[in-house]
Amino acid sequence: MMPNELSLPKPLNLIAGKWVPAASGDEMDVRSPLDGEVFTTIAAAQPEDVDAAVKAAREAFDIGTWGQMTAAERGRLMLKFSLRILEEAEPLAQLESRDNGKPLKQARADMVACARYFEFYGGAADKVHGEVIPFMTGYNVQVVREPYGVIACIIPWNYPSQMFARALAPALAMGNSTVLKPAEDACLTCLRLAELAGEVGFPDGAINVVTGRGDVAGRALSEHPGVDFIAFTGSPEVGQMIQIAAAKNYISCTLELGGKSAQIVFDDADIDAALPFLVGGIIANAGQTCSAGSRILIQESVYEKVVAGLKEQFEGLEASDISEEAALGPVISAKQKKRVEAYIDGADAPLIARGTVREGAPKGGYYVAPALFGPVDPHSNIGQEEVFGPVLCAMTFKDEADAIRIANDTEYGLMAAVWTRDGARQQRVAKKLRGGQVYINGFGAGGGIELPFGGVRKSGHGREKGFAALLEFSQIKTIINKHD
Ligand code: NAD
Repeated sequence: MMPNELSLPKPLNLIAGKWVPAASGDEMDVRSPLDGEVFTTIAAAQPEDVDAAVKAAREAFDIGTWGQMTAAERGRLMLKFSLRILEEAEPLAQLESRDNGKPLKQARADMVACARYFEFYGGAADKVHGEVIPFMTGYNVQVVREPYGVIACIIPWNYPSQMFARALAPALAMGNSTVLKPAEDACLTCLRLAELAGEVGFPDGAINVVTGRGDVAGRALSEHPGVDFIAFTGSPEVGQMIQIAAAKNYISCTLELGGKSAQIVFDDADIDAALPFLVGGIIANAGQTCSAGSRILIQESVYEKVVAGLKEQFEGLEASDISEEAALGPVISAKQKKRVEAYIDGADAPLIARGTVREGAPKGGYYVAPALFGPVDPHSNIGQEEVFGPVLCAMTFKDEADAIRIANDTEYGLMAAVWTRDGARQQRVAKKLRGGQVYINGFGAGGGIELPFGGVRKSGHGREKGFAALLEFSQIKTIINKHD
């Protein structure tokens, strides 16, 4: 049983500044991955609830207070929100840890990142300028950047607070209104964050939240004709449905999907410096990170040495419910645990090392002992498919060309890292790797808030984070004024 001092959000949707149940009255159970027990419920929004949320967002944008605010006013509000998130960071982190299962230390770091999104984009809100184009005599041509209108933000469960902020902050900075559909498996912090946004003064309808099933509420939102743009983060399968829904309404979307990212270790790399990043890149969030470094490509001559270092670290890893100390927590759900374990049991590669699950961890929790495989055939299932769990594949390569070929040879292209002391090689390889972000002698899943991030092909398209997101979440209009 969980301690009950945690204050839980009400199982309601936020529509036009009011907390309301689903019109049907339907609710869904919420289980904690830490012990598998139901500890609260959420509203199961139906298409009519989604319709009301989109209408509220439209009104806020067209005729409400939100739509009338200047960029500086929006920015100031966002900065206020950022500070409020920091004030509430501890209860938010406790809530996220219970809802999502992530170790408290990581949940705390996620709250700081969440606040930072609103700080970064709040500061940037009034710094996106237009252009004046020299044209024919007697003309003045301005290019202005405008919000789309209503942005639907559909997000996954792996980093609920960070995803809330990553989608909403740039969308709001540019003056859009939003309807958020968090994932059914972890949405409690999104509800609490939306509540805090109301407290600091976001006008009604600027942020609306509908919770519930993806194939009901998510689908209704993505297909709604009142939506002007969709920001989606989630699986490639649903991403494809989103793109089809967007196409049917002739609107645009960003898709932030999965990955099978490679960290490439050359024979001249500083192996001791690399090892914590090679392990951390897959263990963070129990491997449930789109940009997890799930493949380690190691040059043949140092393969044994690198693998020995990885093995030692993996054998010491323990999945645990003791949030403060845990290297990793449980995965999100019973379904996800089954999926990850099926990959481990069916792996067509030698198992090098397996971590453990803390003895005494709740039996109903969704814990998976981390697994290290190698050498893995790059074309095998485990070498190609996104496991989304604490499973690391070690592979070998001969030379630079071989490394680039193997790294790029998946359907995905999200991020990568190259470990070498050779400066020219760092640049050559970084430029040839397919994806939106490449680290050199480092690895930070997803990078910082300031750094543009996104994928190619099955990893999606569009860029979030950094200034790039402000451009994604706005459109340009050219105003041609013939004055003489
Ligand atoms: P998912 O695609 O199942 O769900 C994502 C969201 O879409 C949820 O809110 C869900 O309710 C909603 N949804 C589900 N079916 C829908 C439908 N038919 N129409 C509209 N919405 C629907 O993904 P998930 O299991 O929550 O997350 C895991 C996936 O997300 C992984 O593949 C991971 O790589 C990816 N991910 C990517 C990034 C990134 O930035 N690239 C970040 C986090 C997660």
